[in-house]
Amino acid sequence: MSPFAYCPRDGTTLVPTRIDGRDRPACPVCGFADFLHVQIGANAIVERTGSVLLVRLNYGPRDGRWSLPGGLVENDETPEEAAVRETAEETGFDVELDGLLATYMRPGAPILVVIYRSHIVGGSLRIAPEELSEAAFFPRNELPALAELAWPSTVHGLDAWRAFERSRP
Ligand SMILES: [Zn+2]
Repeated sequence: MSPFAYCPRDGTTLVPTRIDGRDRPACPVCGFADFLHVQIGANAIVERTGSVLLVRLNYGPRDGRWSLPGGLVENDETPEEAAVRETAEETGFDVELDGLLATYMRPGAPILVVIYRSHIVGGSLRIAPEELSEAAFFPRNELPALAELAWPSTVHGLDAWRAFERSRP
């Protein structure tokens, strides 16, 4: 089921068009075709002396649960920029990314989460009080229980972090 009846670019009525083996609503004017549309979330694994930074949400149905710092990617930035920006906004820490750690997406769910490893290069802990009640570093073997984690992507990111092995010289 497509979310679009009209072209989101120019308002033309979309018509079913065979593309890549499926009939998809497509715009005969500009060529827009309704493939999967998702939001992109960008998260940071902020590691310090072997521990990972988690933030505790203070709103909504996940109130009280722990999440990785991060948020949705804006139209005018890359996922990398979003991960750095959201981490600074939420925690006060300036981070530098150390590469892609994992991605998370479930079929049918309209979000793709991209998770980067990072380390702190500046700033100090100062949480965003409208979103968070606290932030804390957790050692690998003392992470919050599964039921205390906010999102499936949080679980996935922490699993990937625990499994990650640095290449040794
Ligand atoms: Zn169009």
